[in-house]
Amino acid sequence: MTSPTLRVCALYPELMNIYADRGNIAVLRARCEWRGLGFELAPSSLGDPLDGAAHDLFYIGGGQDRDQVAVAADMAQTKRGALHVARERGAVVLAVCGGYQLLGHSYQLGEKELPGVGLVDLRTVRADGPRLIGNCAIEADLGGGPRIVAGFENHGGRTHLGPGERPLGRVLAGHGNNGEDGFEGVHADNVIGTYLHGPLLPKNVWLADRLIELALGVELEPLAGDEVEAAAHASARRAAGA
Ligand code: GLN
Repeated sequence: MTSPTLRVCALYPELMNIYADRGNIAVLRARCEWRGLGFELAPSSLGDPLDGAAHDLFYIGGGQDRDQVAVAADMAQTKRGALHVARERGAVVLAVCGGYQLLGHSYQLGEKELPGVGLVDLRTVRADGPRLIGNCAIEADLGGGPRIVAGFENHGGRTHLGPGERPLGRVLAGHGNNGEDGFEGVHADNVIGTYLHGPLLPKNVWLADRLIELALGVELEPLAGDEVEAAAHASARRAAGA
């Protein structure tokens, strides 16, 4: 049997890449290649078409408010339908911070309301209060029991999930979605949004492996020799105090 190939689409890679979030893609690539799985990466940026059936994992990183203005309009116009097709077929959508904020109904930025793609029921509002910044750790269960995701958050927006939505995790340390309700991120089917940078996956390779499993519908054996990755995870947890 030939090994499957993880087909990744990076949305707006040049615009949505605060905190070197493209490191998440590097980790997905490495963990596929180390296992002998294929890996393909295609970008889709402003004005580009998007085929919701052509990729197993759609990725969007964090971004500045000013870049989110153009990205939000483009996503709503040219990518919304494809992202809904992707969700329906069980593809993974992983969105970090600025990307996460655009998965829902809207991101209210002062007078301006940026559209979301309506994949999940959430709204984000740019509050007048301080930015929510710092190391963060959450407990999340993506099947197989609760595990810790650790990273770094820096956002002015506060995200509120609709009543039927499940958060990605419970905040152990840090602010999370809005600094108030103790929840972080969103997890709906295989759509995952989170405020955690780091980048996220180098510090949490268990999560990278789980996303590959969900995207390909396979079960992966653990990789031998993950000492550096385990140390990165431990250090991120320590930084958050969890
Ligand atoms: N611009 C958004 C905010 O400040 C997202 C920032 C980010 O991606 N870190 O809320």
